[in-house]
Amino acid sequence: MKSSFNFARIMGIPIGINYSWFVIFFLITATLGQYVFPWLYPDWSTPVYWIVGLCTSLLFFASLLAHELAHSFVAVRRGIEVRSITLFIFGGAARIAREAPVASTELLMAVAGPLSSVALAGVFALIWLLSRNTLEPLAAMSIYLCWINLALAAFNMLPGFPMDGGRVLRSIVWWRSGSYMKATRVATLAGEALGCLLILSGLAIGVLVYWFNGLWLALVGGFLFAAARASYRQAVLRDSLQGLTAQELMTGDCQMVPEQLTLETLVNEYLLPAGHGCLLVGEWGRVRGTVTLQDTKLVPKRRWHITPVAEAMTPVEKLGVVYPGDDGLTVLERMQEGDIGLLLVVSGE
Ligand SMILES: [Zn+2]
Repeated sequence: MKSSFNFARIMGIPIGINYSWFVIFFLITATLGQYVFPWLYPDWSTPVYWIVGLCTSLLFFASLLAHELAHSFVAVRRGIEVRSITLFIFGGAARIAREAPVASTELLMAVAGPLSSVALAGVFALIWLLSRNTLEPLAAMSIYLCWINLALAAFNMLPGFPMDGGRVLRSIVWWRSGSYMKATRVATLAGEALGCLLILSGLAIGVLVYWFNGLWLALVGGFLFAAARASYRQAVLRDSLQGLTAQELMTGDCQMVPEQLTLETLVNEYLLPAGHGCLLVGEWGRVRGTVTLQDTKLVPKRRWHITPVAEAMTPVEKLGVVYPGDDGLTVLERMQEGDIGLLLVVSGE
Protein backbone atom coordinates (compact mmCIF):
# COMPACT_ATOMS: atom_id res chain seq x y z
CA MET A 1 0.00 0.00 0.00
CA LYS A 2 1.23 3.50 -0.77
CA SER A 3 1.87 5.48 2.39
CA SER A 4 1.11 8.88 0.90
CA PHE A 5 -0.99 10.63 -1.74
CA ASN A 6 -0.37 13.73 -3.87
CA PHE A 7 -2.80 16.62 -3.69
CA ALA A 8 -1.16 19.45 -5.62
CA ARG A 9 1.69 20.42 -7.90
CA ILE A 10 3.72 23.59 -7.28
CA MET A 11 6.63 24.66 -9.56
CA GLY A 12 6.14 21.25 -11.18
CA ILE A 13 6.82 19.47 -7.88
CA PRO A 14 4.20 16.96 -6.66
CA ILE A 15 3.06 17.88 -3.14
CA GLY A 16 2.05 14.85 -1.08
CA ILE A 17 0.67 13.97 2.32
CA ASN A 18 1.82 10.89 4.19
CA TYR A 19 -1.00 9.22 6.13
CA SER A 20 0.99 9.66 9.35
CA TRP A 21 0.46 13.42 8.91
CA PHE A 22 -3.23 13.12 9.87
CA VAL A 23 -2.18 12.02 13.36
CA ILE A 24 -0.18 15.18 14.01
CA PHE A 25 -2.77 17.38 12.24
CA PHE A 26 -5.51 16.04 14.51
CA LEU A 27 -3.32 16.36 17.63
CA ILE A 28 -2.37 19.97 16.92
CA THR A 29 -5.92 21.02 15.99
CA ALA A 30 -7.33 19.35 19.10
CA THR A 31 -4.65 20.81 21.41
CA LEU A 32 -5.27 24.31 20.07
CA GLY A 33 -9.09 24.10 20.05
CA GLN A 34 -9.45 22.25 23.33
CA TYR A 35 -6.67 23.67 25.52
CA VAL A 36 -4.45 26.45 24.16
CA PHE A 37 -7.03 28.98 22.92
CA PRO A 38 -9.59 28.35 25.74
CA TRP A 39 -6.78 28.91 28.25
CA LEU A 40 -5.45 32.09 26.59
CA TYR A 41 -8.84 33.58 25.63
CA PRO A 42 -11.49 32.39 28.14
CA ASP A 43 -14.42 34.39 26.72
CA TRP A 44 -14.78 32.93 23.18
CA SER A 45 -17.47 30.40 22.31
CA THR A 46 -16.68 26.72 21.71
CA PRO A 47 -17.16 26.81 17.88
CA VAL A 48 -14.77 29.78 17.67
CA TYR A 49 -12.07 27.83 19.55
CA TRP A 50 -12.37 24.97 17.09
CA ILE A 51 -12.56 27.12 13.94
CA VAL A 52 -9.53 29.16 15.00
CA GLY A 53 -7.77 25.93 16.06
CA LEU A 54 -8.41 24.34 12.67
CA CYS A 55 -7.34 27.42 10.68
CA THR A 56 -4.19 27.82 12.80
CA SER A 57 -3.31 24.17 12.32
CA LEU A 58 -3.84 24.37 8.53
CA LEU A 59 -1.77 27.56 8.28
CA PHE A 60 0.95 25.96 10.38
CA PHE A 61 1.27 23.17 7.84
CA ALA A 62 1.04 25.68 4.99
CA SER A 63 4.02 27.42 6.67
CA LEU A 64 5.91 24.11 6.77
CA LEU A 65 5.14 23.62 3.09
CA ALA A 66 6.38 27.14 2.30
CA HIS A 67 9.62 26.29 4.17
CA GLU A 68 10.15 23.18 2.02
CA LEU A 69 9.19 25.08 -1.14
CA ALA A 70 11.87 27.66 -0.33
CA HIS A 71 14.52 24.90 -0.19
CA SER A 72 13.13 23.47 -3.43
CA PHE A 73 13.02 26.83 -5.19
CA VAL A 74 16.77 27.30 -4.70
CA ALA A 75 17.42 23.68 -5.75
CA VAL A 76 15.43 24.08 -8.98
CA ARG A 77 17.10 27.43 -9.73
CA ARG A 78 20.47 25.72 -9.33
CA GLY A 79 19.51 22.94 -11.71
CA ILE A 80 18.78 20.25 -9.12
CA GLU A 81 15.58 18.30 -9.63
CA VAL A 82 13.11 18.12 -6.73
CA ARG A 83 11.11 14.90 -6.98
CA SER A 84 8.45 15.60 -4.36
CA ILE A 85 7.56 17.39 -1.16
CA THR A 86 5.75 15.35 1.47
CA LEU A 87 4.16 16.36 4.76
CA PHE A 88 4.50 13.64 7.38
CA ILE A 89 4.31 13.16 11.14
CA PHE A 90 7.60 14.96 11.90
CA GLY A 91 7.03 17.87 9.52
CA GLY A 92 7.87 18.28 5.86
CA ALA A 93 10.50 16.74 3.62
CA ALA A 94 11.60 17.61 0.10
CA ARG A 95 13.03 14.70 -1.91
CA ILE A 96 15.90 16.16 -3.85
CA ALA A 97 17.27 14.10 -6.74
CA ARG A 98 20.92 14.55 -5.85
CA GLU A 99 23.22 16.31 -3.41
CA ALA A 100 24.40 19.84 -4.16
CA PRO A 101 27.50 19.72 -6.40
CA VAL A 102 29.24 22.67 -4.69
CA ALA A 103 29.33 24.08 -1.15
CA SER A 104 27.71 27.41 -2.11
CA THR A 105 24.62 25.66 -3.54
CA GLU A 106 24.26 23.57 -0.40
CA LEU A 107 24.55 26.67 1.79
CA LEU A 108 21.93 28.61 -0.20
CA MET A 109 19.55 25.64 -0.32
CA ALA A 110 19.89 25.11 3.43
CA VAL A 111 19.35 28.70 4.59
CA ALA A 112 16.40 29.33 2.24
CA GLY A 113 14.05 27.28 4.47
CA PRO A 114 14.70 28.99 7.82
CA LEU A 115 14.79 32.40 6.08
CA SER A 116 11.33 31.77 4.62
CA SER A 117 10.07 30.81 8.10
CA VAL A 118 11.45 34.07 9.54
CA ALA A 119 9.81 36.02 6.68
CA LEU A 120 6.47 34.29 7.37
CA ALA A 121 6.83 35.13 11.07
CA GLY A 122 7.16 38.77 9.97
CA VAL A 123 3.99 38.58 7.87
CA PHE A 124 2.03 37.04 10.76
CA ALA A 125 3.41 39.68 13.16
CA LEU A 126 2.12 42.36 10.78
CA ILE A 127 -1.36 40.76 10.66
CA TRP A 128 -1.33 40.59 14.46
CA LEU A 129 -0.44 44.32 14.68
CA LEU A 130 -3.28 45.26 12.34
CA SER A 131 -5.93 43.06 13.94
CA ARG A 132 -5.13 42.99 17.66
CA ASN A 133 -7.60 45.79 18.57
CA THR A 134 -10.37 44.78 16.18
CA LEU A 135 -10.53 41.04 15.59
CA GLU A 136 -9.21 39.02 18.51
CA PRO A 137 -9.44 35.51 16.95
CA LEU A 138 -7.43 36.63 13.89
CA ALA A 139 -4.88 38.33 16.12
CA ALA A 140 -4.63 35.23 18.34
CA MET A 141 -4.03 32.99 15.32
CA SER A 142 -1.44 35.37 13.82
CA ILE A 143 0.65 35.77 16.95
CA TYR A 144 0.65 32.01 17.50
CA LEU A 145 1.79 31.42 13.89
CA CYS A 146 4.42 34.16 14.24
CA TRP A 147 5.99 32.38 17.24
CA ILE A 148 5.68 28.92 15.75
CA ASN A 149 7.47 30.01 12.54
CA LEU A 150 10.26 31.61 14.57
CA ALA A 151 10.56 28.40 16.62
CA LEU A 152 10.60 26.38 13.41
CA ALA A 153 13.45 28.49 11.99
CA ALA A 154 15.42 28.23 15.24
CA PHE A 155 14.90 24.48 15.62
CA ASN A 156 15.87 23.79 12.02
CA MET A 157 19.05 25.79 12.42
CA LEU A 158 20.35 23.40 15.12
CA PRO A 159 23.69 22.31 13.65
CA GLY A 160 23.12 18.56 13.10
CA PHE A 161 22.89 16.97 9.66
CA PRO A 162 20.38 16.37 7.98
CA MET A 163 18.68 19.38 9.58
CA ASP A 164 19.13 22.74 7.84
CA GLY A 165 21.70 23.90 10.39
CA GLY A 166 23.65 20.68 9.83
CA ARG A 167 23.65 21.35 6.11
CA VAL A 168 24.95 24.87 6.75
CA LEU A 169 27.67 23.33 8.93
CA ARG A 170 28.57 20.84 6.19
CA SER A 171 28.73 23.51 3.49
CA ILE A 172 31.05 25.65 5.63
CA VAL A 173 33.41 22.77 6.49
CA TRP A 174 33.26 21.65 2.83
CA TRP A 175 34.10 25.15 1.63
CA ARG A 176 36.95 25.61 4.16
CA SER A 177 38.50 22.15 3.82
CA GLY A 178 37.61 21.35 0.22
CA SER A 179 36.67 17.83 1.34
CA TYR A 180 33.07 16.77 0.90
CA MET A 181 33.62 13.54 2.83
CA LYS A 182 35.27 15.24 5.80
CA ALA A 183 32.48 17.84 5.90
CA THR A 184 29.85 15.09 5.80
CA ARG A 185 31.58 13.22 8.62
CA VAL A 186 31.68 16.33 10.83
CA ALA A 187 28.05 17.33 10.09
CA THR A 188 26.58 13.81 10.50
CA LEU A 189 28.51 13.26 13.77
CA ALA A 190 27.01 16.54 14.97
CA GLY A 191 23.61 15.20 13.86
CA GLU A 192 24.10 11.99 15.85
CA ALA A 193 25.21 13.95 18.92
CA LEU A 194 22.24 16.28 18.62
CA GLY A 195 19.92 13.30 18.19
CA CYS A 196 21.26 11.77 21.44
CA LEU A 197 20.90 15.10 23.22
CA LEU A 198 17.26 15.38 22.11
CA ILE A 199 16.55 11.80 23.23
CA LEU A 200 18.06 12.49 26.67
CA SER A 201 16.27 15.82 27.11
CA GLY A 202 13.06 14.15 25.89
CA LEU A 203 13.39 11.44 28.54
CA ALA A 204 14.10 14.04 31.23
CA ILE A 205 11.11 16.18 30.18
CA GLY A 206 8.96 13.05 29.96
CA VAL A 207 9.77 12.06 33.54
CA LEU A 208 9.89 15.52 35.14
CA VAL A 209 7.33 17.59 33.17
CA TYR A 210 4.89 15.85 30.88
CA TRP A 211 5.23 12.41 29.29
CA PHE A 212 3.78 13.30 25.89
CA ASN A 213 6.09 16.25 25.11
CA GLY A 214 9.07 14.26 26.35
CA LEU A 215 8.20 11.24 24.26
CA TRP A 216 7.73 13.43 21.22
CA LEU A 217 11.12 15.10 21.61
CA ALA A 218 12.78 11.70 22.17
CA LEU A 219 11.16 10.35 18.98
CA VAL A 220 12.35 13.37 16.97
CA GLY A 221 15.83 12.79 18.45
CA GLY A 222 15.76 9.13 17.45
CA PHE A 223 14.63 10.06 13.96
CA LEU A 224 17.45 12.59 13.63
CA PHE A 225 20.07 10.14 14.95
CA ALA A 226 19.02 7.46 12.44
CA ALA A 227 18.85 9.95 9.57
CA ALA A 228 22.35 11.30 10.37
CA ARG A 229 23.78 7.79 10.45
CA ALA A 230 22.07 6.80 7.18
CA SER A 231 23.28 9.99 5.48
CA TYR A 232 26.88 9.22 6.38
CA ARG A 233 26.62 5.61 5.15
CA GLN A 234 25.08 6.88 1.94
CA ALA A 235 27.96 9.35 1.47
CA VAL A 236 30.55 6.61 2.04
CA LEU A 237 28.78 4.35 -0.42
CA ARG A 238 28.60 7.08 -3.06
CA ASP A 239 32.25 7.88 -2.49
CA SER A 240 33.33 4.27 -2.95
CA LEU A 241 31.24 3.85 -6.11
CA GLN A 242 32.55 7.00 -7.77
CA GLY A 243 34.59 6.26 -10.86
CA LEU A 244 33.55 2.61 -11.10
CA THR A 245 31.37 1.22 -13.90
CA ALA A 246 28.50 -1.27 -13.80
CA GLN A 247 30.80 -3.77 -15.52
CA GLU A 248 33.32 -3.52 -12.71
CA LEU A 249 30.65 -3.86 -10.05
CA MET A 250 28.71 -6.79 -11.47
CA THR A 251 29.21 -10.53 -10.97
CA GLY A 252 29.65 -12.29 -14.26
CA ASP A 253 29.36 -15.87 -13.06
CA CYS A 254 25.58 -16.02 -12.76
CA GLN A 255 24.43 -19.57 -13.40
CA MET A 256 21.22 -20.20 -15.35
CA VAL A 257 18.52 -22.68 -14.28
CA PRO A 258 15.45 -23.86 -16.26
CA GLU A 259 12.00 -22.50 -15.37
CA GLN A 260 10.50 -25.95 -14.70
CA LEU A 261 13.02 -26.82 -11.98
CA THR A 262 11.28 -27.29 -8.61
CA LEU A 263 12.14 -25.00 -5.73
CA GLU A 264 13.32 -28.00 -3.72
CA THR A 265 15.97 -28.90 -6.30
CA LEU A 266 16.83 -25.25 -6.80
CA VAL A 267 17.55 -24.66 -3.12
CA ASN A 268 19.28 -27.99 -2.41
CA GLU A 269 21.33 -28.33 -5.56
CA TYR A 270 21.98 -24.78 -6.73
CA LEU A 271 21.45 -22.05 -4.15
CA LEU A 272 22.81 -23.71 -0.99
CA PRO A 273 25.89 -25.64 -2.29
CA ALA A 274 27.19 -22.95 -4.61
CA GLY A 275 26.58 -20.08 -2.22
CA HIS A 276 25.36 -17.97 -5.14
CA GLY A 277 23.28 -14.99 -4.05
CA CYS A 278 21.32 -15.04 -7.26
CA LEU A 279 20.58 -17.27 -10.21
CA LEU A 280 19.24 -16.44 -13.66
CA VAL A 281 16.14 -18.31 -14.78
CA GLY A 282 15.68 -19.19 -18.46
CA GLU A 283 16.81 -21.41 -21.27
CA TRP A 284 18.91 -21.25 -24.43
CA GLY A 285 20.60 -18.11 -23.20
CA ARG A 286 17.30 -16.25 -22.90
CA VAL A 287 16.80 -14.75 -19.43
CA ARG A 288 13.21 -14.88 -18.14
CA GLY A 289 13.93 -13.70 -14.60
CA THR A 290 16.11 -14.08 -11.54
CA VAL A 291 15.65 -16.06 -8.35
CA THR A 292 17.24 -15.58 -4.93
CA LEU A 293 16.94 -17.44 -1.65
CA GLN A 294 14.72 -14.56 -0.54
CA ASP A 295 12.24 -15.30 -3.37
CA THR A 296 11.92 -18.97 -2.37
CA LYS A 297 11.02 -17.99 1.21
CA LEU A 298 7.75 -16.50 -0.07
CA VAL A 299 6.54 -20.01 -0.95
CA PRO A 300 5.71 -22.36 1.98
CA LYS A 301 8.39 -25.04 2.36
CA ARG A 302 5.88 -27.92 2.10
CA ARG A 303 5.06 -26.76 -1.47
CA TRP A 304 8.68 -26.55 -2.63
CA HIS A 305 8.71 -29.99 -4.24
CA ILE A 306 5.79 -29.15 -6.58
CA THR A 307 6.40 -25.43 -7.25
CA PRO A 308 8.41 -24.56 -10.39
CA VAL A 309 11.03 -21.81 -10.22
CA ALA A 310 8.94 -19.79 -12.71
CA GLU A 311 6.36 -19.13 -9.98
CA ALA A 312 8.83 -17.77 -7.45
CA MET A 313 11.20 -15.85 -9.72
CA THR A 314 11.24 -12.10 -10.29
CA PRO A 315 10.35 -11.74 -13.98
CA VAL A 316 12.79 -9.84 -16.14
CA GLU A 317 10.22 -7.04 -16.79
CA LYS A 318 10.32 -6.19 -13.10
CA LEU A 319 14.10 -6.04 -12.86
CA GLY A 320 16.01 -2.83 -13.28
CA VAL A 321 18.48 -2.73 -16.14
CA VAL A 322 21.79 -0.88 -16.50
CA TYR A 323 24.48 -0.94 -19.17
CA PRO A 324 28.10 -2.05 -18.65
CA GLY A 325 29.43 1.49 -19.13
CA ASP A 326 27.03 3.14 -16.62
CA ASP A 327 28.89 4.60 -13.67
CA GLY A 328 28.55 3.35 -10.10
CA LEU A 329 26.42 6.28 -8.97
CA THR A 330 23.85 5.64 -11.72
CA VAL A 331 23.68 2.01 -10.61
CA LEU A 332 23.12 3.08 -7.00
CA GLU A 333 20.44 5.62 -7.96
CA ARG A 334 18.62 3.08 -10.14
CA MET A 335 18.58 0.62 -7.22
CA GLN A 336 17.33 3.22 -4.75
CA GLU A 337 14.68 4.58 -7.12
CA GLY A 338 13.14 1.18 -7.65
CA ASP A 339 13.95 -0.04 -4.13
CA ILE A 340 15.50 -3.17 -5.62
CA GLY A 341 18.53 -5.13 -4.56
CA LEU A 342 19.39 -6.53 -7.96
CA LEU A 343 20.00 -5.07 -11.40
CA LEU A 344 20.71 -6.78 -14.69
CA VAL A 345 23.71 -5.49 -16.57
CA VAL A 346 22.88 -5.90 -20.26
CA SER A 347 24.89 -5.21 -23.37
CA GLY A 348 23.61 -4.74 -26.92
CA GLU A 349 19.88 -4.32 -27.53
ZN1 LIG B 1 14.37 23.07 6.24
